Amino acid sequence: MILIKSDSEIELMYESGQITGGALALAEESIRPGMTTGELDSLIEKYIRSHGARPSFKNYNGFPASACISVNEVIVHGIPGSRVLKEGDIVSVDVGSYYKGYHSDAARTFAVGNVTDEAKKLIEVTKQSFFEGIKAAYPGMRLGDIGSRVQAYAESFGYGVVRDMVGHGIGRALHEAPDVPNFGTEGRGIRLLEGMCIAVEPMINEGTYELKTLSDGWTTVTLDGKLSAHYENTLAITKDGPRILTLI
Ligand code: MG
Repeated sequence: MILIKSDSEIELMYESGQITGGALALAEESIRPGMTTGELDSLIEKYIRSHGARPSFKNYNGFPASACISVNEVIVHGIPGSRVLKEGDIVSVDVGSYYKGYHSDAARTFAVGNVTDEAKKLIEVTKQSFFEGIKAAYPGMRLGDIGSRVQAYAESFGYGVVRDMVGHGIGRALHEAPDVPNFGTEGRGIRLLEGMCIAVEPMINEGTYELKTLSDGWTTVTLDGKLSAHYENTLAITKDGPRILTLI
């Protein structure tokens, strides 16, 4: 069942989203070569808790940290720890906050120091694919209108659009109906209604869209070992179109 949010619920989700957006801004300014992914996770957790929220991901289905931190060929769900970030890495940081009863969820891929032009382009195209997709985030449009736009844009650069993981509805639960794929067919899928809140999150691979999950049960990597990038925001469908709740 898709839960429609009232205006006052969307305001609370905006407050939650600003904490998530702030945590990502802190991550962006803190990331540097020599830092461990565990140190980055601690900074993010402290930021979220200091704003009166709690990290949505901590202990979610047993996830052991506050942020998912995914380096290079890791697509999503990387577990922070002792891995040291190196100049030239790209690092995807996925953060959720739970505040006043509502979750927010957002992700960015950042460059660690100087990265190759190819890596920069992947990061930029992944971000832009989100903004292409949400051009269809209006009441009366359909989920396939979002997914097909994300897919067409990313594939025009020869990139692979991850199929096995998708965006989602969000609210009192971190993952609600509906699934929000980053691929699809125009005019197909669930019709968007005012008050729906969704996390749109393209995961775009430099090469094949195929993936595998490592033996830790979380870390998902590209099957060909090439780079992957992630860009996500929580948004509300309003009568005027998408209101992005996790941009600060
Ligand atoms: Mg998400």
